Amino acid sequence: MQDHELYRRILGIQAPWFVDSVDLRLEVGEIHVHLRHHDLIHWPCPECGADCKLYDHQPERQWRHLDTCQYQTILHAEPPRSECREHGVKAIKLPWAEPSSRFTALFEALAIEWLKAASQKAVGGLLKLSWDEIHGIMERAVKRGLERRQADVVGEIGVDEKAFRKGHSYLTLVNDLIRGRVLYVAEDRKQSSLDGFWETLTAEQISGIRAVAMDMWDPYIESVREHVPEADGKIVFDKFHVAKHLGDAVDRVRRKEHKTLKAAGDDRLAGTRYDWLRNPASMEPKYRKEFAELRNSELKTARAWALKETAMALYEYVYERPARKHFRWWHGWAVRSRLQPMIEVARTLKRRFENIITYLGTASPTQAANPSMPRSKIQWVKYTARGFRNRQNFVHAICFHCGGLDLAPQATK
Ligand SMILES: [Zn+2]
Repeated sequence: MQDHELYRRILGIQAPWFVDSVDLRLEVGEIHVHLRHHDLIHWPCPECGADCKLYDHQPERQWRHLDTCQYQTILHAEPPRSECREHGVKAIKLPWAEPSSRFTALFEALAIEWLKAASQKAVGGLLKLSWDEIHGIMERAVKRGLERRQADVVGEIGVDEKAFRKGHSYLTLVNDLIRGRVLYVAEDRKQSSLDGFWETLTAEQISGIRAVAMDMWDPYIESVREHVPEADGKIVFDKFHVAKHLGDAVDRVRRKEHKTLKAAGDDRLAGTRYDWLRNPASMEPKYRKEFAELRNSELKTARAWALKETAMALYEYVYERPARKHFRWWHGWAVRSRLQPMIEVARTLKRRFENIITYLGTASPTQAANPSMPRSKIQWVKYTARGFRNRQNFVHAICFHCGGLDLAPQATK
């Protein structure tokens, strides 16, 4: 059966390689294609490209390729080794696969494209890949992408923490706020977690940082101060995190008041936790009306809520002087409110105020509603990858989906 030429063409095998034999194992759904090469006078050294003599062959290896006619197709070959005067004995680069992979580059490229669009479970099922194989493909793709990343200056960055497994442990993420991609992921949310990021930057990249959006979190603040020149003028405690502090304070008021009311048989605050955090404009008209009754009531929670909303009005100011005036007036109201959580948050905001108004009223993305743009994408990563058995897989998946990386294997480019 002269199918060698046919398979050579289907698989795109080029000289000096040729199809030596094809073994159809159709009963198990597999096609095994054995490759050999013609004798060449010279083989290029993989390090320097110099013409070298053939030294020997490594034992036979296998690579899973794209299926042919729905059959799993596996290439077999003995990789030749060249002997370079300068670099010694090295396995030569094979045109169909990257050195460490058990898949051909085309197969990996397909798996990567599918993983961008569907869950790991779905891709694993369709391509008949194990979790380990899926994670291996993603890990190699991320490694390639990071090696290819240029040392661009990123002017505005965001630092964010992300809980892994519901608050049992944390990751620190550094985001490029201009291009909306994740630049760096590290374990924990300590100063050392963020310190590692600066080490990946050139001096030019560090001096090119104009603004760092983040939460009022001392370990991060210390890290920025130690590594970024004139940090105090560049740190921005962003709107998202300020809103979160205010929202948490409102919730503390609500929980305490709910307990008191409930003891007296008043259930008005039950199940309203998220209503106080939402924007009323986004509520359905029916709920908006119900909520209006609550927030116009004499409840302490309603007063705390009004304080939160008034504080957030700060972000409507374009000019610094009226913004400062608004804040002074708000702070006076908050500290006289007799609502302990609101008094505490007012003190925190006052102490941090110079870094809240950094870049206020400008087009800086640090002043956007949620400067950590990849946040929603990371939720999606969590959702599509429930098979994470360890945190490292989660980190790779974040970089894979949110890193803006060039992931394709070299041989397919
Ligand atoms: Zn060499």
